[in-house]
Amino acid sequence: MEPRRNFLAAAWEGLGELVRGFATTFIHLFRRPITEAYPEYHRPLPERSRARIILTRDPDGDERCVACYLCSGVCPVSCISMQSSQREDGRRFASWFRINFARCIYCGLCEEACPTLAIQLTPHFETCQYDILTLVAEKEDLLVDHGGKNRDYNFYRHAGVTAVGGKGEHLQEAKPVNRRSNLP
Ligand code: SF4
Ligand code: SF4
Repeated sequence: MEPRRNFLAAAWEGLGELVRGFATTFIHLFRRPITEAYPEYHRPLPERSRARIILTRDPDGDERCVACYLCSGVCPVSCISMQSSQREDGRRFASWFRINFARCIYCGLCEEACPTLAIQLTPHFETCQYDILTLVAEKEDLLVDHGGKNRDYNFYRHAGVTAVGGKGEHLQEAKPVNRRSNLP
């Protein structure tokens, strides 16, 4: 008699679990789905997401990058390279600029180091390729026609270099001190 009672108890318990499982499925039939149909739907990512890198321009439309090499120096995987050059008015620029996205780990250190806010990471993450060589981006692939996250910033108007104005004419820059005026 004892084995038969154990079997009935186990069968009753199994049936209860079965009903509970179906009930859970049934309840979820009437709930709003939380799945997202990617790639038809792209969930908007925060502006500070770190993915595809761009080179931005200042509000005057000039290239922000002054080819200072800080980003390539700080990059932990050495995937940035460039060659600096100089315009006739003294403004520096990169004659070529290259990022190997096959090595980039999207750490954002280049953006942190950049004094001109030229190099910026964007939320655009769909950069997969079948051919690894196509992941090497040249300057023309990186340069955009806007200022990215900081559209109003113009490095040269703050920097105090004479390419944009004389000493004391830049934003938040004090006029040069006349040393003779300090004499007693
Ligand atoms: S995000 Fe990091 S790894 Fe990628 S280029 Fe910038 S510093 Fe290098
Ligand atoms: S992107 Fe910024 S840090 Fe890199 S070379 Fe240009 S100005 Fe310097």
